[in-house]
Amino acid sequence: MNYELKKVSRRQLYDECVALLNAAGKESADFDVLCIFQDMLGDKNPLFLPGKEIPPGTAERIRGLVKARSEGEPLQYLLGKWEFYGIELYVGEGVLIPRPDTETLVEHTLDICREKGIRSPVIADLCSGSGCIALALERELPGAEIYAVEMSPEALAYLRKNRELNNSRIHIIEGDILSPEVISTLPEADVIVSNPPYLTAQDMTELETEVLCEPSLALFGGSDGLDYYRAIAEKWRDKLREGGIIAFEFGLGQHGDVEEILRSCGFTDISFRKDGGGIIRTASAVKH
Ligand code: GLN
Repeated sequence: MNYELKKVSRRQLYDECVALLNAAGKESADFDVLCIFQDMLGDKNPLFLPGKEIPPGTAERIRGLVKARSEGEPLQYLLGKWEFYGIELYVGEGVLIPRPDTETLVEHTLDICREKGIRSPVIADLCSGSGCIALALERELPGAEIYAVEMSPEALAYLRKNRELNNSRIHIIEGDILSPEVISTLPEADVIVSNPPYLTAQDMTELETEVLCEPSLALFGGSDGLDYYRAIAEKWRDKLREGGIIAFEFGLGQHGDVEEILRSCGFTDISFRKDGGGIIRTASAVKH
């Protein structure tokens, strides 16, 4: 029998995929399909040639990705790469996806460094994950000596690949940020920065399908979500030089508690920043 796979144009497949994601209730259907098309076809404007035929093998691969997306797989994991602060990063199962909110932490940290005239700081990025914060800070502060601390083997694999991808010189420290041996590995720091796990036990019961695909180790911050702020402020204080800076990201409504923790550990000059959505998202403070 003469059997031929059905031909499909870019426009036809695009519409088919968007309809599938819309039916699955994905609000970002158009954006998701566009990103998948750009990636799979290697074309920034895939609909510029709407009638162009898609090779059958490629069409099947696109359908496979869109099906996984319709079932709740994060777009970023499907693409395998994601941009943060203008930097390309590998992402995938086992590592937290860099959020735009975290760019606020990078900006806040850079502003405080500029304000204090700190140009070539020693920086410790605790719970580094993909390395997004460490790599963004390195790009903006080329003279900095940056230590990225991470304990998850899966996340470390991405961190290493991302260091290579960005021709970076950051130091990767493998281990638990709460372990005295890990703390003693690092030199005295001018800046400690962290986006630790901060979701509460309650939050963990209400995760969206996409977030359920991400590692709970990177999300769960203890019953009230604040375990890591307490531990970092206490255990890492001595690693920070006098006048050094600590900067945290946290979740919606946690600013008062984080402020209290910083104050009780003797930090001063506490300042906050809002993210793009207007949520108070980061705090910085000084050790005196
Ligand atoms: N921002 C993540 C979320 O909203 C949480 C990441 C974290 O705990 N640091 O799911």
